[in-house]
Amino acid sequence: MGRLCWAHFLNRGFETCGSTLPSQGLRLLMRYKSYSAAMKTLLVMDFDHTIIDDNSDTWIVKCAPEKKLPQELIDSYQKGKWNEYMGRVFKYLGDKSVEEGEIKKTMIKMPFTEGMLELINFIGKNKDLYDCIIISDSNTAFIDWILKAANVDSVFDKVFTNPAVFSRDGFLILEGFHVHECDHCPKNLCKKKVLVEFIDKQSQKGVKYSQINYIGDGENDFCPITSLKKNDVAFARKGFTLYKMLSEPPQEFVPVESSVVGWTSVFKMCP
Ligand SMILES: [Mg+2]
Ligand SMILES: [Zn+2]
Repeated sequence: MGRLCWAHFLNRGFETCGSTLPSQGLRLLMRYKSYSAAMKTLLVMDFDHTIIDDNSDTWIVKCAPEKKLPQELIDSYQKGKWNEYMGRVFKYLGDKSVEEGEIKKTMIKMPFTEGMLELINFIGKNKDLYDCIIISDSNTAFIDWILKAANVDSVFDKVFTNPAVFSRDGFLILEGFHVHECDHCPKNLCKKKVLVEFIDKQSQKGVKYSQINYIGDGENDFCPITSLKKNDVAFARKGFTLYKMLSEPPQEFVPVESSVVGWTSVFKMCP
């Protein structure tokens, strides 16, 4: 784990953007202009346990009869096939006539991680400096609802996640995000492929980033972090899988070049 200190960051000559920043952690996240005044910083955010302080795919169980799933459904999960499992959970809720409005009402009660709304609103006020995308293995329905309910959906340039729509007969139908060849990631989503393609597309449009800050917690955030460069920063949530993986990087991945900062909340991003 990289042992970075404030002096290290401050000595690199970056500026803060002049607005009042609520914490050191935010300031760290928001450093910019390290190379060129014309270049923006890209913030890449995971959703579950990063933007929101829980897992949307397990939170939805609150909608099930008696707030639990049948054991055989739980046991049907196979490693690397989470999306297929969630498809079966949604099918079960549809069979039990749990309606869209009920699911939405439950999902928008999910708490945001401490300080996250302040961070997102800060980004929203400084869109000339930051682009911000979400890459998540949740789904479009949950993320749309939750961001719109908090009135922050317009802050994000793009949300990359599994498509989910309600069918006419009231079933939430979930699809995989894309097809990829990465051996490390679940079949439906390799976040590295998404990130690399996004950066390529932006580059073709003439948008280049001076720095990429990746904020996440989970196992599937490790693969994209291996695409970051020396000047970039991976913010890994302490006590979660990604942080542990960065502490002892698995042999089968290419080495991580970026700096690593542990965080517990947006206000506690101390290197
Ligand atoms: Mg996560
Ligand atoms: Zn991957």
